Amino acid sequence: MSRIGTRAAAEHLGITREMTIPPCTHQPFCGIGRTRYLAVQISANEGPMSQTDLLKTDCSKCAALCCLVLNFDKGDDFAFDKNAGEPCRNLSGHSCTIHDHLKQNGFRGCVAYDCLGAGNRTIQEVFGGKSWRDEPRLMRVMAEAFAGMREVHKRIDLLRAAETLSLNPQDEQVRLGYLNRLEKHRWSGSELNDFEVNLALEIDIFFHGLKGYLPNINASV
Ligand code: SF4
Repeated sequence: MSRIGTRAAAEHLGITREMTIPPCTHQPFCGIGRTRYLAVQISANEGPMSQTDLLKTDCSKCAALCCLVLNFDKGDDFAFDKNAGEPCRNLSGHSCTIHDHLKQNGFRGCVAYDCLGAGNRTIQEVFGGKSWRDEPRLMRVMAEAFAGMREVHKRIDLLRAAETLSLNPQDEQVRLGYLNRLEKHRWSGSELNDFEVNLALEIDIFFHGLKGYLPNINASV
């Protein structure tokens, strides 16, 4: 998939269209909805976002997980329907056969999508460079791990963006602690499966607590 450069953390939490993330149904009261709202506010306040290799997508070290795992619907962004877990018909090996002509062929959604390095990290860190092409039995566990890693990387992106909020020393220490855990930890598939119901929720609650740093926040959200 092509990368379109650094985008606001809000986009990576699904505020704008991403192939597998539907519009948030949690607004306005649950933690997820609030985190999404916070992401918008941070985006509006952020300066240049630091970007290390960890969030840089490297398709050469992936196994085309996005072209396998994600689903999309025929429409403005995609020229046909694809189910989750079904290799895209434009895929050959791990390469897109229309990579240089995606927009012309009706796949601007593929151009816009960016896994933030979650695909290559999943394949290299969790599966030691293996591919579902060689071992189809890995398809399901790779899909699950990729979903978890995407959530990890979205929060890394957001935690980095929160650097611009001038947090007090205590909150800054917490922010750096979470960031360090997410970036440095060597994830297993089972840990990634549990991420959204454990550490991710903890981090989302932390994000919610940061809204006091944001100007002009809507109190009803
Ligand atoms: S059109 Fe190309 S980039 Fe898009 S999902 Fe299919 S193979 Fe991947």
